[in-house]
Amino acid sequence: MTIETVDTLIIGGGLSGIYAAYLLTRKAESFILLEARKRLGGRILSPEEQGFFTDLGPSWYWPAIHPKTARLISYLKLDGYRQFEEGFGRFQSVSGAVETVSGYANEPQSWRLEGGMFVLIERLCRTIPRKRLRLNHPVCGIEKSGNEVLVNVGALEQEPQARFKARKVILALPPRLIASTILFTPDLAPDLTQAMLKIGTWMAGQAKFYALYDEPFWRRAGLSGQAFSQRGPLGEIHDGSNNKKAPYGLTGFIGIPAVQRRDEELLTKAILEQLALFYGEPAARPTAFFYKDWAREKFTATRLDQPPMYSHPLYAPPAGQTSFWNKLIHFAGTETAPQHGGYLEGALTAAARAVQ
Ligand SMILES: Cc1cc2nc3c(=O)[nH]c(=O)nc-3n(C[C@H](O)[C@H](O)[C@H](O)COP(=O)(O)OP(=O)(O)OC[C@H]3O[C@@H](n4cnc5c(N)ncnc54)[C@H](O)[C@@H]3O)c2cc1C
Repeated sequence: MTIETVDTLIIGGGLSGIYAAYLLTRKAESFILLEARKRLGGRILSPEEQGFFTDLGPSWYWPAIHPKTARLISYLKLDGYRQFEEGFGRFQSVSGAVETVSGYANEPQSWRLEGGMFVLIERLCRTIPRKRLRLNHPVCGIEKSGNEVLVNVGALEQEPQARFKARKVILALPPRLIASTILFTPDLAPDLTQAMLKIGTWMAGQAKFYALYDEPFWRRAGLSGQAFSQRGPLGEIHDGSNNKKAPYGLTGFIGIPAVQRRDEELLTKAILEQLALFYGEPAARPTAFFYKDWAREKFTATRLDQPPMYSHPLYAPPAGQTSFWNKLIHFAGTETAPQHGGYLEGALTAAARAVQ
């Protein structure tokens, strides 16, 4: 098998990897990006429906506290709009009883992106030569060879389907996924591997739904679309409508752990019943319904990510290292950012650090 040689290999085509690719393109440096899935974006996923893009991964950004994201959105000439939150909220207790409560405004204000969050990936990709982006390229092995690195693509138990040699590697994927799915030769130091395994991948154990409607009937009833439930299956609901015109939408997170989300059909039925309980009968008849369980995605979540994560971890480079093997390999990926880790902002910060 021929070995393709390149200056820098980026592993992972989520926001962090794509942003690194964009920065290297601007510096006119030679690189190839290897993405395991047959699509780019990683945790950013926005399927289209009636010209509207339903965010099944991230949907919010916070310009007041995430300056890199705000700058990038403005540089790419993209438009955002405020999360709709006017009106009353709904609250469901453990007993199942539902009451109307005063709504609360998210502080700082959350914003949504026109065109869905995937537009960030799409616009950045316009600047990157297509031949540099290789889809369906899951990396399974990384070997140190003198001052270079050999990277194997394929399934661990099979012969590699492609091989690359690089002078630098940027790991733009969650550290826990790296430690669980990529074989390093020589072995990584045990404390580094342990640290990587202990960094939980943000939202990897979550599932999200999106229901679209022709009319915003909840708004007409004075409701904001915001709801919280202690009973489930939905734990948190928000208005996820298009800006200005239809489709209107309700979206949010499933409140029950991954292990209880086995039967998608039953779960969908229960979600629609719960929406009808909160917002009336029309809520049970969306024009389109989307559901994404990230805990079942092998290029996002591992077994360690299945239990729910109840608070936002304090992220930092694993074992305090931003690189290893004498700076041949650099960490990117939002979970390695010292600030705003887990968020889109962290993905940009970590990518910029790795490229630098
Ligand atoms: C449901 C949900 C809601 C969220 N909400 C928000 C929000 O509102 N605001 C916010 O700021 N953030 C939010 N986030 C977090 C946000 O999505 C992440 O911070 C960001 O997308 C991470 O980007 P990344 O490039 O670091 O990682 P990823 O997007 O995980 O990218 C890693 C990439 O590596 C690829 N990969 C994996 N293994 C391999 C391999 N072996 N070889 C090659 N490629 C590989 C993956 O396929 C993927 O494309 C949310 C996430 C989820 C899941």
